[in-house]
Amino acid sequence: MKKHNYSAGPSILPQEVLEKAAAAILDFNNSGLSLIEISHRSKDFVAVMEEARSLALELLGLQGKGYQALFLHGGASLEFLMVPYNLMTKAGKAAYLDTGTWASGAIKEAKTFGETVVVASSKAENYTHIPKNYTVPTDADYFHCTSNNTIFGTQMTEFPDLGIPMVCDMSSDIFSRELDFSKFGLIYAGAQKNMGPAGVTLVVLKEDILGKTGRTIPNMLNLQQHIEKESMYNTPPVFATYTSLLTLQWLKNLGGIAEIEKRNNAKAELLYTEIDRNGLFKGTAVVEDRSKMNVTFLLEDESLTEKFDQSWKAADISGLNGHRSVGGYRASIYNAMPIESVQVLVDVMKELERTA
Ligand SMILES: *Cc1c(COP(=O)(O)O)cnc(C)c1O
Repeated sequence: MKKHNYSAGPSILPQEVLEKAAAAILDFNNSGLSLIEISHRSKDFVAVMEEARSLALELLGLQGKGYQALFLHGGASLEFLMVPYNLMTKAGKAAYLDTGTWASGAIKEAKTFGETVVVASSKAENYTHIPKNYTVPTDADYFHCTSNNTIFGTQMTEFPDLGIPMVCDMSSDIFSRELDFSKFGLIYAGAQKNMGPAGVTLVVLKEDILGKTGRTIPNMLNLQQHIEKESMYNTPPVFATYTSLLTLQWLKNLGGIAEIEKRNNAKAELLYTEIDRNGLFKGTAVVEDRSKMNVTFLLEDESLTEKFDQSWKAADISGLNGHRSVGGYRASIYNAMPIESVQVLVDVMKELERTA
C-alpha cells in the first residue's frame, strides 16, 4: 500500500504521474524505446520540452506577456548564483529579504558578486514570521524574496510593488496558489517539491530584464543563452522534465491553479484547526504567516514523542519529522497530497489526545 507521504522534498507526486512516468521509462509513446534512451533532439522529446515550457507559462497566466520558461539543471541552489550573474550590474547592488535558510543561502551567493543589501530578516526570531514594512532601495538591480520557507513553515502573502525586477524562489509553493505572477521578473523553483523529481529547475523570466549587467557570463550560466537554445543548450534532464510535464498536465486537467488552491486551503485548514484545538500540539510559525505547504508544529509535552511517533508510523504516515535544524514535526502537504491523507494524520493527533 502507498504510504501517506509528508516528505518535504523530494516529495509526493500524483499517483497517475508516477504510473505514466514508469510506463514511459519502459516504452515512450509506443516507440519501442525508453524515454531515457532516445535523443533529446528527437521529435518526440522536443515536443515534450515545448509543451512543458508553454504549459508552465499557461498555468501561471504568463503567456504572451514577454516571459520565457526554461527547464534547467542545477537545482534552486544554482539559481542562487545565476540570478546575480545575470541580473546584478558590475557596480550595482541587489536587495534581499531574509526569511529562512534558503533565503540566506541565496544572500550568501549574491554577496560573492557585489553589494547585497538585506532589507529585513527574521533570523533573530528563528524565522517564525515574515518581516513586514521593509523598504527596498529603488536603485537596486533587483529584489529577491522566497515565497515559501520550506524549513520554517512560513509563507509570504504580500509582495511589494517595486519599480525594479522582483525575483522569487518559489521552490516549495509554485503552482499551489493564485498570484499575479506578472509582478515577478524572474521566478525559479527546484522541481522536487511541487512539480516533479529532483534534477530539473523551472526558471520563468521576463526576457527584457536580461542583458544589463556588463558581465561576461559563461554559457551554461547565461539565461539568454538558454532562451536562445530553447532550453536545450546541452542535454536537458529528460526524465525530470517529462515527469514535470505530466504533473503540469495533471494540474491543468484538474482545473489549474484556481482549483488546486481551493484544495490546498482545505487541507491546511483541516490540519491547523487540529493543531490549534488539540492541547497537546503547538504550531511554530506565527498564525498570519503560516505556510499552506509546510505545516510545522511541536508536541507541548516532549515525553509523548515516542508514543506519537509510533502512532503516526503505525498509520502508514511517512516523512513527518521536522528539518534537522529545527526539530519538531513538519507536515508537507504539497499539491499532490490528498485531503484523505491529512485526515489520517488529524485522526492520529485526536487519538493521542484521547489516550495520553
Ligand atoms: C529545497 C529548496 C531549495 C533547494 O533546492 P535544490 O534544488 O536542492 O537546490 C531552495 N529553495 C527553497 C525554497 C527550497 O525549498
